[in-house]
Amino acid sequence: MSNLKFNISSCIRATSKFSNCQNCVDICPVQTIQLVNNIPAFTPAECISCGGCVGVCPTESFSLTNFSAIDFFFDNLEKKNYEFSCKKDLDCCLSVLNVEYLLSI
Ligand code: SF4
Ligand code: SF4
Repeated sequence: MSNLKFNISSCIRATSKFSNCQNCVDICPVQTIQLVNNIPAFTPAECISCGGCVGVCPTESFSLTNFSAIDFFFDNLEKKNYEFSCKKDLDCCLSVLNVEYLLSI
């Protein structure tokens, strides 16, 4: 079962006719996010909860119910753990962390 939540009201593509963002569509490894009437829509039954769309969305429209990037970030800072892997530290792909989190860590 997918752990992904989509808040369409945060999606810049859905709220601005000038946006052509489709980062989430492009990164999804199982092509479960598609543009429907020019707005992203995802099929939960096909989602593998990798978190890729979470990491690339500029407006944090996607989130995983079992993962908080900000908690992960501060936990690792506190532990001074600067090396982590998907197998050891995460239940999803490292791509769930956006570039700002990775650079900050
Ligand atoms: S969590 Fe992964 S599989 Fe699910 S919609 Fe996002 S990119 Fe696709
Ligand atoms: S990456 Fe985010 S802002 Fe861009 S289309 Fe997908 S949900 Fe909308």
